[in-house]
Amino acid sequence: MVKFPEANKRLFGNVFVCRKCKTKIRTDPAKVRKGKVMCRNCNSKALRPVRKK
Ligand SMILES: [Zn+2]
Repeated sequence: MVKFPEANKRLFGNVFVCRKCKTKIRTDPAKVRKGKVMCRNCNSKALRPVRKK
């Protein structure tokens, strides 16, 4: 499945998860920090990075 490990890693680093509905959103972390990104499912701005450890 993973043809390009580096690209996968880079994309994965830009994935956020909605705290409310668990929808994954791929976006720019800078935009998330500025509050410009909303969940397309529930319009929540409560996003967290997909990896939280
Ligand atoms: Zn949501």
